[in-house]
Amino acid sequence: MREKLKERLGNRSRYKGTFSKYGVKLAYKGWPRVTLCLTDVKAVPSDETVTDHLWFNETKEFQSLGPLYPEDVVAFDARVRPYEKGYVNNREEVDMRETDYRLSHPTHVAIVEYSKCHWECRERGVKHYETCPRCGYHNDLDAEVCRRCSYRFVEQPQPTPTKTYTQITLKPSIL
Ligand SMILES: [Zn+2]
Repeated sequence: MREKLKERLGNRSRYKGTFSKYGVKLAYKGWPRVTLCLTDVKAVPSDETVTDHLWFNETKEFQSLGPLYPEDVVAFDARVRPYEKGYVNNREEVDMRETDYRLSHPTHVAIVEYSKCHWECRERGVKHYETCPRCGYHNDLDAEVCRRCSYRFVEQPQPTPTKTYTQITLKPSIL
């Protein structure tokens, strides 16, 4: 359990975390939701670590930052809220739910520290993600299929070398 967050229950204040990766989470309807993982989450300005990682939905505010790169530091305002996690199976009378704490409804989201990778990839135009042309999800570069919408990244078909010989006709003027 995230004890450090529990101590701050109900308080809305500023935090920051280090972006590590994007993920997807099944949605009730439609394509899975995009999530993102922040690690080493700290309170601002005390710098006290409140948890080692948290997953967030990629809300419009997060989206507006553009793609995040590993090690970017993102700050935001949020409130500590309890939530239930764990497994329930009523038929087998299994209830392994427990309460944990998370930071909910992040607002005033901003990148406060750009990672070296962010600068290098962006400035040099180095491709960092295989961004899906259909749903916009930032897949790993070696992805063959979009994790979110199953779009298949097909390689552009190479022109098949033809075995026929092209006859070169020289123009009379250069003969
Ligand atoms: Zn996609």
